[in-house]
Amino acid sequence: YAAKQRNDGAVVYDAAMDKSSEKSLSLLTELRNAIERNEFRLHVQPKIMLDTGKVVGMEALVRWVHPERGNVFPDEFIPFAEQTGFIRVLTRWVMEKSAELCQELATKGYPLKISVNLSTRDLMDQDLPAKFAETLLRHKLAPGSFCLEITESAIMDDPVRAQHTLERLSAMGFDLSIDDFGTGYSSLAYLKRLPVNELKIDKSFVLNMENDIGDTKIVRSTIDLGHNMGLRVVAEGIESEAVWRLLAELGCDQGQGYFMSRPIPGDQLIAWLEKWQAPGTIAAPAAHEID
Ligand code: C2E
Ligand code: MG
Ligand code: MG
Ligand code: MG
Repeated sequence: YAAKQRNDGAVVYDAAMDKSSEKSLSLLTELRNAIERNEFRLHVQPKIMLDTGKVVGMEALVRWVHPERGNVFPDEFIPFAEQTGFIRVLTRWVMEKSAELCQELATKGYPLKISVNLSTRDLMDQDLPAKFAETLLRHKLAPGSFCLEITESAIMDDPVRAQHTLERLSAMGFDLSIDDFGTGYSSLAYLKRLPVNELKIDKSFVLNMENDIGDTKIVRSTIDLGHNMGLRVVAEGIESEAVWRLLAELGCDQGQGYFMSRPIPGDQLIAWLEKWQAPGTIAAPAAHEID
């Protein structure tokens, strides 16, 4: 493989060096094996009310722990998984693990909503809604305990099909979110017809917004746009208390970011919640170094 080590220990595939079909085929084989060998991990990142600090949900983010290469991040294999169709298998795995975690947390007194990322290929998968329904039933979960995140660009890849699938999922009771908002090319005329509940502002506008007046203006307008359309607005990429404060002042409803927590293994979430909820820790948490 054309892989190079990143300074955080993760391995980056170099697409330019790794374009032979033979190598692609073996990456696909590795991905398939990874399911059986239990190499994927479900990480979750808490989702927090920005006015109160209350935890209302979490986003499922998949990790691949490769036996030789260590942690491989989603940006390095999700695009490939989408090209090859493997994403359909992976999405089902993520859905199953998310349902297990959600059920376990509810049993232990933490009824949190879980957000799962879907890709373009998932929106074209005619069997997906039925598979989701079956998973929910088996775990005795209400559809409202799941939020499905679809990026703006995945929607615009095939807007007609996306609308159809989203209408089906919405009718089933799932909560729907538009992810990475502001980075794609969606038309507002189209967006207004989608049955979504949430708009997620891309982290590229959030990361440095306290120092960038342009970013602040974009975020402010997006929050107003979302609210005017009756949507909940969420910011991702909150890395400092200053950005949290600013977003709260602008009326942003919820947020996620390293300032509150990095994505952590699902089985560490309860310990994190207990620490977060301890008196005096809200808005002054230690940055978590797990990932
Ligand atoms: P996303 O859905 O937009 O997820 C947010 C990404 O921002 C995550 O990266 C998260 O770790 C990162 N992030 C959160 N807070 C901060 C912060 O304060 N600072 C910075 N710099 N980054 C932050 P991650 O986990 O590497 O995932 C990248 C993308 O891969 C996701 O973007 C999503 O599009 C995709 N992805 C991850 N898991 C899945 C999955 O299970 N299925 C699908 N289809 N896509 C997934
Ligand atoms: Mg997401
Ligand atoms: Mg996002
Ligand atoms: Mg993203």
